[in-house]
Amino acid sequence: MTLSISPELTSAEQVLSSLATQAKPKVTDAEMMQAVRTLLIGLGEDPDREGLKDTPKRVMKALQFLTKGYHESLDELLNGAVFTEDANEMVLVRDIDIFSSCEHHILPIIGRAHVAYIPNGKVIGLSKVARICEMYARRLQVQERLTFQIADALQRLLKPQGVAVVIEATHMCMVMRGVQKPGSWTVTSAMRGVFADDARTREEFMNLIRHKPSFS
Ligand SMILES: [Zn+2]
Repeated sequence: MTLSISPELTSAEQVLSSLATQAKPKVTDAEMMQAVRTLLIGLGEDPDREGLKDTPKRVMKALQFLTKGYHESLDELLNGAVFTEDANEMVLVRDIDIFSSCEHHILPIIGRAHVAYIPNGKVIGLSKVARICEMYARRLQVQERLTFQIADALQRLLKPQGVAVVIEATHMCMVMRGVQKPGSWTVTSAMRGVFADDARTREEFMNLIRHKPSFS
């Protein structure tokens, strides 16, 4: 397998900005809870009734958890788990659960990611691949950006021969509102290096993610 540089590889600045962690929020918890309270009133609710009393706090906490990826960085997350290894076969981590939130409606995006790379002297702990997916998923996202952020992070970290990321997901903003199409799902992909340049390598990856494992 030859080393190739994909023309679609994003510029260094784009990669850096996509990897940067968000600055600390300038609003207080009290202000965030007040905003949720205002929303409840706007929706016609009584925020002081028993069932809703703690809702502003719960909503704030839930949203903070669902977007905690803003406060994580690749460096902390990896904690040195990049190893030198003389491997050059495809490494594939399939069926990584994705729980993200769409940036247009702050409603769930639920799906699965399949991530492959072909090493070029460096490998990463397999669990770290899932952790990278989670770090980017736990932000306000569009599925396309989530997909290429994962690909570009691995490309930058490992400088592999190639990276392939496919995400299959359903968007609650489409299922529960708007076009109301339960069962609809969206597939996005990002191919870097040999996966972009070589149709056979890409096809091998696509076959591997379609194949149903015999143990499940
Ligand atoms: Zn949406």
